[in-house]
Amino acid sequence: MKKLYFITGSQDLYGNETLKQVAIDSKEMVAFLNEKLGDTIAIEWKPTVLTNDGAKDVLVAASADKDCVGVITWMHTFSPAKMWIRGLKALTKPMLHLHTQFNRKLPYDSIDMDFMNLNQSAHGDREFGFICTRLGIKREVVSGYYQDERIIERIRRFAHVCKALDFSDGMRVAMFGSNMRDVAVTDGDRVESEIRYGWNVNYYGVGDLVDVVKKVKASEVDDMMEYYASKYDINTDDIVAVREQAKYQVALEKFLKRKGISAFTDTFQDLHGLKQLLGLSVQDVMSKGIGFGPEGDYKTSALMAVMCKMAEGKKGATAFLEDYTYDLTEGSELELASHMLEVSPVFAATKPKIEVHPLGIGDREPPARLVFDGIDGKAIAVSMVDMGTHFRLICANVQLVKQPQAMPNLPVARVMWKILPDFVTGTEAWIYAGGAHHAVVSTALTVEDIRLFAKLTDTELIEIG
Ligand code: MN
Repeated sequence: MKKLYFITGSQDLYGNETLKQVAIDSKEMVAFLNEKLGDTIAIEWKPTVLTNDGAKDVLVAASADKDCVGVITWMHTFSPAKMWIRGLKALTKPMLHLHTQFNRKLPYDSIDMDFMNLNQSAHGDREFGFICTRLGIKREVVSGYYQDERIIERIRRFAHVCKALDFSDGMRVAMFGSNMRDVAVTDGDRVESEIRYGWNVNYYGVGDLVDVVKKVKASEVDDMMEYYASKYDINTDDIVAVREQAKYQVALEKFLKRKGISAFTDTFQDLHGLKQLLGLSVQDVMSKGIGFGPEGDYKTSALMAVMCKMAEGKKGATAFLEDYTYDLTEGSELELASHMLEVSPVFAATKPKIEVHPLGIGDREPPARLVFDGIDGKAIAVSMVDMGTHFRLICANVQLVKQPQAMPNLPVARVMWKILPDFVTGTEAWIYAGGAHHAVVSTALTVEDIRLFAKLTDTELIEIG
């Protein structure tokens, strides 16, 4: 289980009695937080920080501990903040500054100077906050009584985002082929992606995958077909075409596993040696939380994998979607989001059907794909673009809706939504912001999650809706 260090600040001027009480109180708080958050994260109590060296030691330890994904800091008493400078400069993990206190109410009848000296977060947390701001530390400040549900949920969100950042750091992304020829928005600075997000993005020839495809055994294809039959309705007589996709999925999963890859891209311009465009295989792989971006869109692919990690343990669906076409009926405008093939079955409202149809573009054999109608509900659509000087995230609130009428001739999966607050505002803002036609759509996450991710990675964020 990943963990957060809980670090309480004080100083050595207070004497043993007070410091003993600080330790007792902070242990009790950690026990409470573990009880509430134990299904998401472990919170590890650390001895009270009293000195300059103590601050450095614990924050260096947090930075070096592979299981530690972030720190929670809290000043029980006053803690002169020059003593935190060296430690904070060495901290490489995200920080949540919890502005709380051990007692909820003031003991009006009994309060004396001893009580006031022991319980002075209002004083100590401001001193600590100043030095964090002066040092430019990106952190989440959470104020309120630590037992309140609102505070617990904010710590839980922080824990989810920290786990996603930990996963992001060193995540490997494979591009089969490169960026789609001439497409601008899917391209990006891969070196900067690694510096900022830890994404190690590398190119592979599609032939590297084809080599694995060629070695897939018939028995492995049989097993995959059995798995498909357990999950989907096979609505085609062209079993040969479905088996071809099953072979791709076996090969793809082997390739990703061998190289420790969590997200990938392909492009239909570069399918050398593949008879079909990857359809069903990619759709099913996406439903397991593996990131995918078409047309070489490594940013969407990597972002999808990170957002799936952020959503782990939460209800809802998260995957790549592409903006396609509109119903522009005035006042009830709808968007049809789909792709040539690659829509994740996590968005399926009904059991997906495996079908085989010709593809208009790509010059290949008719690919097997999953066809279904999408779910409804609240969601966010998140796009990442490269502005040349920096990355930008655009996050829109959308309302997924049931399709108003059947589309019997559309041979791909489809999801429909209303962009919020309304069509004109939402789409004009998206286009002004430079948002891509690719997004990661999630019903599990909210704009608050993306805001925290953006803050902790120091990424520009434009919120719509
Ligand atoms: Mn596209």
